[in-house]
Amino acid sequence: MTSYELRVLEELVAINTDSTRKCGYEECASVIAGKMKEIGLKVDVYDPVDIVGDGKRRPNVVGTLDIGAEETLGLVTHYDVVPPGEGWHRDPFRLTVEGGRAYGRGAADDKSAIAACLGALSKTKESGKYNVKLIASPDEEVGGRWGIGYVLGEVALKLDCGVVVDAMPDMVCIGASGIIQGEIRVRGVQGHAGYPHRADNPIPKLAAIIKDFEAFIRQRESKLSKIDAPPGSPKNKVWGRFSFTMLGSGEKENVIPPKAWARFDMRVLPDEPIAEARSELAEYFRKKQEQLGIDAELKLLHEDTGFLTPPESPFVQRFRRATASVFGKPLPLGASLGGDDGKFLASRGIPVVSYGAIAEDTRFHGTDEFVYLKDLFNLRDVISELIK
Ligand SMILES: [Zn+2]
Repeated sequence: MTSYELRVLEELVAINTDSTRKCGYEECASVIAGKMKEIGLKVDVYDPVDIVGDGKRRPNVVGTLDIGAEETLGLVTHYDVVPPGEGWHRDPFRLTVEGGRAYGRGAADDKSAIAACLGALSKTKESGKYNVKLIASPDEEVGGRWGIGYVLGEVALKLDCGVVVDAMPDMVCIGASGIIQGEIRVRGVQGHAGYPHRADNPIPKLAAIIKDFEAFIRQRESKLSKIDAPPGSPKNKVWGRFSFTMLGSGEKENVIPPKAWARFDMRVLPDEPIAEARSELAEYFRKKQEQLGIDAELKLLHEDTGFLTPPESPFVQRFRRATASVFGKPLPLGASLGGDDGKFLASRGIPVVSYGAIAEDTRFHGTDEFVYLKDLFNLRDVISELIK
């Protein structure tokens, strides 16, 4: 292996940092801290071990380059990975370079980002536009509360702008959808299946509500953001989405159950107030319940606001110019369809974009995950252009 970035990536992939087991965290963090020191960054480690209280170590490594600039740029990455799963054709914890790709768990998501950022900082540390804080966190794959959430929350690290280096290479992501998750519950009367006339079965009623929600799904799908969807999406603009994702009822074949439930996940436009979407859902549900005459309840379980960094903001413009110097023309701006850790920065008023080397077909979270070498090096170059 020749390049600096691939040598770093090889070392990082070799350490299994499975976020479900939280193994390898300390080892990986210390390798990253060592690399940071080698290229002249000042290293701080923040571990929430005393707050979390489960005795597990979660070192957040922050490497600082202070050139006395006015603004501090945060480069947000994570070193934890999802479990390898079954069916790999290669060793998930040994980086294998083949045909322009490097395979391994985390090769794309998100160890490529750490390697590319270290590469960029090792080259451009002499002169720059920003002070830089390279943040490598654990626990991103399990929500980020004790990773970047802790670094920006309890540690209160100060940033003026940020890049979440954990995204795709063909678009600059400036927003993400809000999320509303909840449950629809239908009550019935339990009874013997031989005597259905003495019971009240909630299952067909729930099925009727689910069927009726097709109209709501279409209503939401017709709502379009002003922001573009990622390349390859079925619509040009980010659109409203609603999916039933879990379903449950009953314990035994011969018992009519007393209740039935379905859970859902609704994705709100990045530029849509989440309260409006919430009332639209509640209103639709109320009407349907009335129309169908079903005793049902809508319960909201979880909500996450989306975010949108204005496309015209100076930081977004600067980032686009960095992509233009690498690719010959600026990359398109868009919003992610899934989650995005930009929310941790955006919710604190920090302008943020997400960008990375995780191309759509790289099987991140799947088997035989890989990163395209060209995406790894382009990412390094975009970061270099941004900070120089
Ligand atoms: Zn990731």
